[in-house]
Amino acid sequence: MGAPIQQITVLGSTGSIGQNTLDVIRRHPERFAVFALTANSSAVQMADQIRVTKPRYAVMRDETAAAQLRRLVAEFNSDTEILSGAEALSMVAAHPEADQVMAAIVGGAGLLPTMAAVKAGKKVLLANKEALVMSGELFMQAASRSGADILPIDSEHNAIWQCLPAKTNDSLKVSGVKRILLTGSGGPFRDLPLQALREVTPDQACAHPNWSMGRKISVDSATMMNKGLEFIEACWLFDLTDQDIEIVIHRQSLIHSMVEYIDGSVLAQMGNPDMRTPIAYGLGWPQRIGSGVQPMDFTQLIQMNFEPLDMSRFPCVKFSIEAAKQKGTAAVVLNASNEVAVEAFLREQISFTAIAALVGEVLDTSQYQSADSIEIILEADSCARELAQSLLGRYRRRR
Ligand code: NAD
Ligand code: MG
Repeated sequence: MGAPIQQITVLGSTGSIGQNTLDVIRRHPERFAVFALTANSSAVQMADQIRVTKPRYAVMRDETAAAQLRRLVAEFNSDTEILSGAEALSMVAAHPEADQVMAAIVGGAGLLPTMAAVKAGKKVLLANKEALVMSGELFMQAASRSGADILPIDSEHNAIWQCLPAKTNDSLKVSGVKRILLTGSGGPFRDLPLQALREVTPDQACAHPNWSMGRKISVDSATMMNKGLEFIEACWLFDLTDQDIEIVIHRQSLIHSMVEYIDGSVLAQMGNPDMRTPIAYGLGWPQRIGSGVQPMDFTQLIQMNFEPLDMSRFPCVKFSIEAAKQKGTAAVVLNASNEVAVEAFLREQISFTAIAALVGEVLDTSQYQSADSIEIILEADSCARELAQSLLGRYRRRR
């Protein structure tokens, strides 16, 4: 008899990571079954996912969407129980019958359900970097208390994890790791003249040269706030300080990050830019499983370039490194103000360059404390959102 089928909860199943996760799961019916799916409001897409994956539960964050979903699902034969609201998200994340939880909600909205999975000792596949950025210390402590495995799905962190020594009970320094080279493509605006940045549109910002992703992370990639959040994410996941990580621009996104050792060796993980590789690595771990990703074609000329990061073009990276040094609620404020700014940019209320300006102003005018409890974190998050909202008017585009 083979190993029992793993039951999987996918938080944020209708998003880019969620859909890629279902694609990998579908390739391995002998290994995986979908236990629960969750989404914010896309009822039509959720109905399709229920039809195909037949989960035990489907949760809509939005009540009206849940009502719409019930009507849609009544049109076919389904045993899926449909729930709604924030508590139901945490319930399916912590449910005793779920073996693995893919945390793929975007933004701070994913914090509580992801934390619920961590506290319940699940195998947690972490795509929702904002949850870790907000609650780093608490999150890692909760995991070590509950025995949860935190498997990084963000491609860079997944690459680092693949390049680290297999046995990681020792600190990385003891294992001979000198530093981590966190690679980033530089996004769609890496070569645009600085004065042109003001006028770029949401669609231009979301047209990433190498990756297809949700709109929020696409804008974060264009401002490189994404690399900043990943910097903080790496500090928590691998117990590093800001001194241990260097950001390197690598345009082609074929190497997904590197680990440098004290003997001069640099190990890199390579592959086509397709999130199904890190997702499959997480789902199958400690085994490797097929992902459906096209192999790299070395019969063709492959160029790989590396260059240093131009920090003056990307102030959000600087803010993030500062927040990583500062610890406590600084990263909460960074993340919250960025979420407000990105949403306003996507609604064409503020310009692209106003994103960093607004985040910088909120960071300058906020007060910080240590992030010792979830209540403190949620309070700092809502204060920073309020402050960012109240400042938005000053950055609003004149039409
Ligand atoms: P997306 O916008 O495509 O999908 C987000 C999902 O979260 C959707 O299912 C949506 O319904 C759900 N959601 C949104 N708001 C919610 C709320 N308030 N409550 C409950 N559910 C909500 O985003 P994505 O690109 O899939 O990214 C998801 C996460 O993974 C992000 O944290 C992102 O940083 C991270 N990530 C994504 C990629 C990628 O390639 N897309 C790569 C690395 C990391
Ligand atoms: Mg990434």
